[in-house]
Amino acid sequence: MSRLEDTTAVVTGGGSGIGAASARRLAAEGAAVAIVDLHSAAAQETAADIRRAGGYALAFEVDVRDQAGLDQVAADAVESLGGIDIVSANAGVCGCRPTVELSDTEWQDMLDINLTGVWRTVKAAVPHMISAGSGGSVVLTSSVVTFVGAANVAHYNASKSGVAGLMKTLSAELGKHRIRVNAVHPGNVATDMLFSDSTLRVFCPDLEDPTPEDLRERARAGDVLGQGWVEAVDISNAVLYLASDEARFVTGVSLPVDCGRRIG
Ligand code: NAD
Repeated sequence: MSRLEDTTAVVTGGGSGIGAASARRLAAEGAAVAIVDLHSAAAQETAADIRRAGGYALAFEVDVRDQAGLDQVAADAVESLGGIDIVSANAGVCGCRPTVELSDTEWQDMLDINLTGVWRTVKAAVPHMISAGSGGSVVLTSSVVTFVGAANVAHYNASKSGVAGLMKTLSAELGKHRIRVNAVHPGNVATDMLFSDSTLRVFCPDLEDPTPEDLRERARAGDVLGQGWVEAVDISNAVLYLASDEARFVTGVSLPVDCGRRIG
């Protein structure tokens, strides 16, 4: 029997990277998946991958800053998929600038997408889970940066630390409904975000034109497994575990998948 048979999931940021890997992973274990992304074509592509593999998926072009859009996704998921059992609130962006040089817009956009967007996703989906009365699992995507700190990502770290705090309070509130709430804290993951110009510069501020290999060399020194980065599927394996009944008594947990970077 598949690990998520007869379940349904909503995954935000499912058009790319970790979200796409999680949507595919959850679907491969039997979940019907609603994929939410800012970019319609990307969400459609993940959904098409899932269908080609024999799974069930719907794609939604919605910005996680748009509460009405997320409410509609949740209503459609209940209507078309039969309910919501799993939420992976994962959509996020990154940026790089010294703290005192951040503009109001850079600070606010980061908080609006990475933190408020997670709260909005939960606000849209969880009432349906509560009224269905069959419990469920909410997995929030935070970051290892909340444990280690890093220069030039204050707005990102503040948003991801906020996500970890939100997770703890939600787990306290929702336990009585048998809804578990946990966070994954990825280290470096080989996605568009990691290889974006701004992230390369977080790792290599001294280089004029840093490449992924420059980043990898430095990142390897920072984790105890000497990897530098992991693949998106490595994070989705953790999401799958937290979403499944194998984690039925796990709630309120921050799970790093970081090659030990926080202790290296
Ligand atoms: P990614 O850029 O590959 O994917 C992010 C996805 O989120 C994209 O499809 C993008 O279109 C979508 N998105 C961005 N803003 C959105 C919005 N306002 N509304 C809806 N969708 C939106 O990056 P990723 O590495 O897969 O990142 C996924 C999550 O993992 C993010 O929350 C990120 O902060 C977190 N994370 C990533 C890393 C890493 O090294 N890649 C490390 C720690 C945490």
